[in-house]
Amino acid sequence: TKRNDIRNIAIIAHVDHGKTTLVDELLKQSSTLDERAKLDERAMDSNDIERERGITILAKNTAVDYKGTRINILDTPGHADFGGEVERILSMVDGVVLVVDAYEGTMPQTRFVLKKALEQGVIPVVVVNKIDKPSTRPAEVVDEVLDLFIELGADNEQIEFPVVYASALNGTSSKSDDPADQEASMDAIFDAVIEHIPAPEDNSDEPLQFQVSLLDYNDYVGRIGIGRVFRGKIKVGDSVTLVKIDGTHKNFRVTKMHGFFGLKRVEIQEAKAGDLIALSGMDDIFVGESVVDSQHIDPLPLLHIDEPTLQMTFRTNDSPFAGREGKFVTARNLEDRLMQELQTDVSLRVEQTAPDTFVVSGRGELHLSILIENMRREGFEFQVSRPKVIVREVDGVQCEPFERVQIDTPEEYMGSIIEALGTRKAEMADMVHTGNGQVRLVFLVPARGLIGFTTEFMSMTRGYGILNHTFDEYRPMVDGSIGRRRNGALVAQESGQATTYSIMNIEDRGTIFVMPGTDIYGGMIVGEHSRENDLTVNITKAKNLTNVRSATKDQTAVIKQPRILTLEESIEFMDEDEYCEVTPESIRLRKQIL
Ligand code: GDP
Repeated sequence: TKRNDIRNIAIIAHVDHGKTTLVDELLKQSSTLDERAKLDERAMDSNDIERERGITILAKNTAVDYKGTRINILDTPGHADFGGEVERILSMVDGVVLVVDAYEGTMPQTRFVLKKALEQGVIPVVVVNKIDKPSTRPAEVVDEVLDLFIELGADNEQIEFPVVYASALNGTSSKSDDPADQEASMDAIFDAVIEHIPAPEDNSDEPLQFQVSLLDYNDYVGRIGIGRVFRGKIKVGDSVTLVKIDGTHKNFRVTKMHGFFGLKRVEIQEAKAGDLIALSGMDDIFVGESVVDSQHIDPLPLLHIDEPTLQMTFRTNDSPFAGREGKFVTARNLEDRLMQELQTDVSLRVEQTAPDTFVVSGRGELHLSILIENMRREGFEFQVSRPKVIVREVDGVQCEPFERVQIDTPEEYMGSIIEALGTRKAEMADMVHTGNGQVRLVFLVPARGLIGFTTEFMSMTRGYGILNHTFDEYRPMVDGSIGRRRNGALVAQESGQATTYSIMNIEDRGTIFVMPGTDIYGGMIVGEHSRENDLTVNITKAKNLTNVRSATKDQTAVIKQPRILTLEESIEFMDEDEYCEVTPESIRLRKQIL
């Protein structure tokens, strides 16, 4: 039999296609919200950083009730640095809702997650969103989705996906692609999910099998394992067995469980096959491990966890001005924070190499940058090194990680991309002209070669290029150093004056990045600066700045939209043995002019 009272789905969307608005609207229109006074926070990706970078980082659970059916909705991170996490989230669901903008159509960022979903055999429902906008092209967009499904190897059942046309903004939906047919509710979406996405198997009379797919942590209950009950039942008070990754067994009594309701977690006494739950009370519970009936030790196969390929050194700030800006500055603060992160992030490793120094390893530049950026915003002040790839011996040969890079770009930028990646020791694997003057390029690149490449790529393609990468494999080390130091970097030296600025880079287009808190070595600031206003700089001491093209000695340069540098931008200018200061106010590289 099936559990018709429940559906487990994951939601996949390209950033800005309306995932958050849609989930908010589902919450509002389901009975879930009757119990809650009002929706005071947006359902998903509330984290600013996620928004800025166009990805979702944290998997979040939401649950809604529609006509007596509980729908558990899981968010999927859209970036390949989080590949293992995507697989684990998909292992908990039976279907996915793919949200596609009715004008923009399918975008490369969704390919990665969609491919994983199709491989894992989940059933898709497609929502063509923003149907209220003028000049949408819903029929073409559906064709594009179909082509993509075929290309990604969808099976016969997956290809027969139902399509719902919706305006998440207006809270309307319909099975018809004519905007005039929109109905004033999200019922067409709810109905498609309930009709097409399989209900979980009801084998709750059989012995318990629960598997941890995600970890969470809080100070009161400690480590929390989130996952799905795949078989049987679990009740508070039950004696059950945890089967660890190394195969050892631990018996324990279930003391506390939570289910999901709206955006909240609610304590529950019992769960059965098909339910998603958060289980606390076992402090060393880990991703992939199973909780089973003590009389039937029958664990589920382990889940995939990505190994780290990149590391950075974190250490306390030793600059003469240390401690001015941060709330958390000591080695103990750093250690505690990193240990806390380890509780929930299974692809992270931390090794203390000196009393004030930690080597932190992760899945890629983005993975580590997000941790650093979060810490900065929480009030930490510390230093980080340029990232280094983790080399490994395979059959006696020194190997380094290679990434598979997929680029979609207007054809006019193809030449410079190929050249730039050439200097980074990339090998081209594929090139397809996809029409409309667009080309898709695929490269295999040593992960070393991608460090600091994102900024260069964005500026090279004027923001029109899209770059995705996934770990490919460890291959023998490529000889020599990789990458190109950018010319024209105008970098500051720190002084004790608090109100001055430093210029990091003057690009061809005249954009200058600035950060508050340091002194300009090469120029002088004329006029006031606020986050919104342009900043005028008089380059008076420019004799060393031979590479600066847009402003030379005795000229005035205008700094457009000054803002804090991102870590990735700083990394481009860092050398192997240099450290960058991370404070709540800025990310700051102390360096002489080139
Ligand atoms: P997410 O990044 O996928 O979570 O996208 P959001 O839900 O944040 O939506 C991105 C932008 O698109 C916001 O400005 C929304 O107001 C807007 N938006 C979302 N759904 C619709 C829609 O159905 N119609 C229109 N016109 N705009 C929408």
